[in-house]
Amino acid sequence: MLIVGAGFAGLYQLYRAREMGLRTRVLEAGDGVGGTWFWNRYPGARCDVESLDYSYSFSPELEQEWSWSERYAPQEEILRYINHVADRFSLRPDIQLNTRVTAASFEDEEGQWEVTTEAGERFAATYLVMATGALSLPQRPKLDGLGSFAGAVYHSAQWPKEGVDFTGKRVAVIGTGSSGVQMTPVIAEQAAQLTVFQRTANFSVPAHNVAFTPEALRAAKARYPERRILGREAITGQFLNANTKTAAEMTDEEKLAELEYRWKGAGGGFRMLRTFADQMSNEQTNRMVAEFVRAKIRAKIKDPRKAELLCPRDNLPFGAKRLSVDSHYYETFNRDNVDIVDVQATPIVAATPHGLRTTEREYDFDAVIFATGFDAMTGALLAIDIRGSGGVPLRERWKDGPVAYLGLGIAGYPNMFVIAGPGSPSVLSNVVHSIETHVDWIMRLIRRMYADGLKRVEATREAEAGWVQLCADEADKTLYTRANSWYVGANIPGKPRVFMAFVSGVPTYRRIIERVEANDYEGFKFASDAQSGELVRSSTACANTRSGNHHARRQ
Ligand code: NAP
Repeated sequence: MLIVGAGFAGLYQLYRAREMGLRTRVLEAGDGVGGTWFWNRYPGARCDVESLDYSYSFSPELEQEWSWSERYAPQEEILRYINHVADRFSLRPDIQLNTRVTAASFEDEEGQWEVTTEAGERFAATYLVMATGALSLPQRPKLDGLGSFAGAVYHSAQWPKEGVDFTGKRVAVIGTGSSGVQMTPVIAEQAAQLTVFQRTANFSVPAHNVAFTPEALRAAKARYPERRILGREAITGQFLNANTKTAAEMTDEEKLAELEYRWKGAGGGFRMLRTFADQMSNEQTNRMVAEFVRAKIRAKIKDPRKAELLCPRDNLPFGAKRLSVDSHYYETFNRDNVDIVDVQATPIVAATPHGLRTTEREYDFDAVIFATGFDAMTGALLAIDIRGSGGVPLRERWKDGPVAYLGLGIAGYPNMFVIAGPGSPSVLSNVVHSIETHVDWIMRLIRRMYADGLKRVEATREAEAGWVQLCADEADKTLYTRANSWYVGANIPGKPRVFMAFVSGVPTYRRIIERVEANDYEGFKFASDAQSGELVRSSTACANTRSGNHHARRQ
């Protein structure tokens, strides 16, 4: 098995594959493990899912021996954790760093994948697992004149390892997604002047981050099994104490109390997304939440001009763009050295030798930071020239948007799996939980293939099309599709507008993939030799398998 990427997904896939006895190698572009947490080292970077949840659950010993310092661990601590996992489970010998995969093609004659790296190395593999991450291909808008800018230029996801000292500097941050929201308060404390260039005001909710006391951590660890069960049964794969009532089922007093309870934290920013059962499907309910949050934002910012700019417009449903979870973001704009520029009203036209020019004026800067996000969900996969059976390029198959069965297998791409890919809960969930779910499911499938003497598996076109339609139908029932978010590819010029995640939640998704498994992998087809692709078992033939008439019906 060849695994591309050594983040949370790649490491766990390696652990499980090796446990089964597969000869396995991980290829990783960076010079260290950690994926997202290796690259995103900007000031203030920390997880916005609680670290007790955003961590592996496969090893109770690991859960007990690792101690998180804060509710939301900072980037360097998460990176330390991932490195600890790599050492503790002796994963490093099978990880090849500094190795960027550029192409992967399924060779029909040999019935295996051939993978090529930037340095020209070639690998052959029976199974190919893409653990390339949903938010790993940084996007930086083209800016005329950037080459002439005399100052320093950074991207949040390509941050220098040695860090950057902004003391006394005039700094521009372009972008106000989660990365911009996290770095702004920290840079503001160092910089002489910080100017935030905002194109769209997004909703951010307070993290209420706290350091763990030894007692609190001990108590949390003592309840770890229960915590994991609650997480597995929660829509996002982390327990957010979701309100099961719709707004219509509550009195005005109850609604306000629920909103206040969630705003005050009660354990984490994302709980605000679960204030009412219908807030992502009922416009009126959503507007009520949005109004509540807007009032809270206004109350934090003294300057009415800044407050109005920072308040999301009412055409953006609350939560339809990925919510940010912040520590003192809005309050930072009360500082004299921090200002905000509305890029929609006065777009940035070009960089100059001294800074940036908008349609209104010129600004002088020592540093410009792009916090402009990623080509999400599909970017890292399509950056690799992946070709399936018959040489079909994935770039071609996905030209109208990603298609994948269950978000993990693609018709025409035998023995290839995508971890937390498009069409799975992935970015709408506690992704570490989603990663573990996918890897465990894939490993059960591969074990089953070995047991049955099967060499080749791939999703059927029909199953794939049905799944893509289901994902689109479910998304259309929600307000998610209303926003110009990276969930729909709107941040990348020319990208097809498709809602790319499975929206109906982690427990529903898990039950579906478990049912597929129980039904002898309905929607997948198998072959006993990897070359021919001759089908020996499909969901229709599976009935025979269960009655003992194994491989009875060749098709
Ligand atoms: P993002 O959410 O895509 O935000 C990018 C920002 O840049 C947006 O404000 C966007 O404006 C702006 N932008 C893009 N192109 C621009 C242009 N040409 N001119 C002006 N502004 C431009 O990216 P991100 O903040 O890196 O976050 C991406 C995702 O990564 C998050 O949603 C989250 O899932 C994850 N993340 C997680 C954490 C965490 O857990 N702690 C931290 C950071 C990121 P528009 O809104 O108008 O497009």
